[in-house]
Amino acid sequence: MGRVLRILAPNPGPFTLEGTNTWIVGADPAIVIDPGPSEPQHLEAVIDAAGSVGAILLTHHHLDHAPGAAWLAAHTGAPVLAARPELGEREVVDGAVIEAGGVSLHVVATPGHAPDHLAFLAEHEGWLFTGDTVLGRGTSVVDPPEGDMAAYLRSLEALRELRPRRLYPGHGPVVERAPEWLAEYLEHRRMRERQVVDALGRTKEPRSPAELASEIYAGYPDELLPAAARTVLAHLQKLQDEGIVTEDHQRFALAGPRGSNTT
Ligand SMILES: [Zn+2]
Repeated sequence: MGRVLRILAPNPGPFTLEGTNTWIVGADPAIVIDPGPSEPQHLEAVIDAAGSVGAILLTHHHLDHAPGAAWLAAHTGAPVLAARPELGEREVVDGAVIEAGGVSLHVVATPGHAPDHLAFLAEHEGWLFTGDTVLGRGTSVVDPPEGDMAAYLRSLEALRELRPRRLYPGHGPVVERAPEWLAEYLEHRRMRERQVVDALGRTKEPRSPAELASEIYAGYPDELLPAAARTVLAHLQKLQDEGIVTEDHQRFALAGPRGSNTT
């Protein structure tokens, strides 16, 4: 029957929150989502909790999610499934269904945080494993060129249309109010985009992502500002693709009558 267990990886930090959530879904055999870093103590705890493992799924290949997969595969014999498989891993594609331990997980491509990002939906139970596309607290970093804000927003919309009941994120707590949280995530990104456009509209001078971030993210801890500047850049690139913003030497201005490079 369906069960979900969390084993928290020992890698807390400003972007990983309490650490990476390794999810164990179903039993005999279980599915493991995101083994996390290659820390034998953590991975032994995963095996102890999981019992037999039928498949190891990766939401994406970032260092806080994927490196433990090889160790776990070697110690369980389970295949590692990913959107862009590395050596020894197998490819899974959008729309595939992985069945093990009494649970069916539907694979949902969710590029944006990373181009190879996947989410996994247990349709019958309404459980959605969101990786870093949606966290249990705070917001996800979208860092170009890997990160793509337009793709990220499309992925959030796609997840919302799945109407999940509960979110199991890559970091942070389980989200019981899934529809509201997904709506808030979308609204938050729209708000940041408006803030970027408004900040560009206040001055005629083209501005850098770092300058915009220190204005928009005023009051945030300094250690988060470099990542905030990357997310601002992701918004700027989306706006540039839409013809709303122009770029010159990594400085950005509004296009059109108020832009600095129109005469
Ligand atoms: Zn992560």
